[in-house]
Amino acid sequence: MIRTRPSYRDISLYSPPSVPCRVDLSDNTNLFGMPPAAERALREIASSTVTRYPISYAPDLKQALSAYTGFEPSWLSTGCGSDDLIDCSLRAFLEPGEPLAVPEPSFSMMSYFAKVNGLHYSPVPLRKDFDIDVDGLLATGARLIYVCSPNNPTGTGVSRAALERLVDAAPGLVLLDEAYVEFASGSHVELVRSRPNVLVTRTLSKAFGLAGMRVGYAIGRPEVIAELEKARGPYKHTGIAERMAIAALTEGVAWVKARAEEAKESRQRLVAELKAQGLAPLPSEANFVLVPLPGAPQVAARMRELDVNVRSFQGMPGVGDALRIGCGPWPMMEAALQALREARR
Ligand code: PMP
Repeated sequence: MIRTRPSYRDISLYSPPSVPCRVDLSDNTNLFGMPPAAERALREIASSTVTRYPISYAPDLKQALSAYTGFEPSWLSTGCGSDDLIDCSLRAFLEPGEPLAVPEPSFSMMSYFAKVNGLHYSPVPLRKDFDIDVDGLLATGARLIYVCSPNNPTGTGVSRAALERLVDAAPGLVLLDEAYVEFASGSHVELVRSRPNVLVTRTLSKAFGLAGMRVGYAIGRPEVIAELEKARGPYKHTGIAERMAIAALTEGVAWVKARAEEAKESRQRLVAELKAQGLAPLPSEANFVLVPLPGAPQVAARMRELDVNVRSFQGMPGVGDALRIGCGPWPMMEAALQALREARR
């Protein structure tokens, strides 16, 4: 009999409902597809990309990210999805047993990452206006505070004033998750230049349409990135993922921006239609909309029978039951609105 870790006993695997569905709006990925440049790169993969190891620490990908973000390669790290960069930064900056402060509701994987890294998960409720509770986060004493903006699952953005106050008073690092930044009215990434203790994570899984390729990146000061890379290890991406990511970042940005604009237009129309159904969706800066709705899990189950998949939440702090609907091509939104209408009857 193998001896298992006592602290791992109550860890359950991540299992979002994954019934194959005609219209799947459940995971906030790019519903328009992937950049044509990335698809071309996939078709043109050289066999050596498969047979050889990729270059360690992904210098070519960092170069492409540097051109896209305006940060020098030494300010960048990459990972197997931004999940991986979050996980690595927890390992790099916290010792087991230390607290990890996380606003709630926020990215649901954070409690899992806390557990697998032996950290003490310290949730701090968002304020009524869905901004972060700066004093509450600071009161945890955590040397790493996670903030997600635009926040999953609320879609709301953190205010610059609250974020700056948090960063300036924090005893350690503030990890700012900008997975949905391409759909927001702005980014807080410039704080990385003006403050020593900010690390930003982003992803190519959402606006860039490459979720299956698992590519994320982090932006931080070189001394922060150097620590992160210790936890990261040399090889995180497949060579194929790297080639596709580089193609998307160098030749696909116009496509990505245009599709993000379309997603935002859909979001605006969706919000208006939801309001017309008598619902009160939260203001969203992301490619999804959160709609408080009592009995949301039952409504989502009925919507699935109508071939539309949306994510449901039960009893979320400060929100209650809610549906999270991904935004994409308008015909998909119409299908969701129609299914929602029928499911609520
Ligand atoms: N952060 C947030 C807020 C997310 O919603 C997600 C994906 N659901 C991630 C990070 C991780 O995405 P990925 O690992 O695909 O980059």
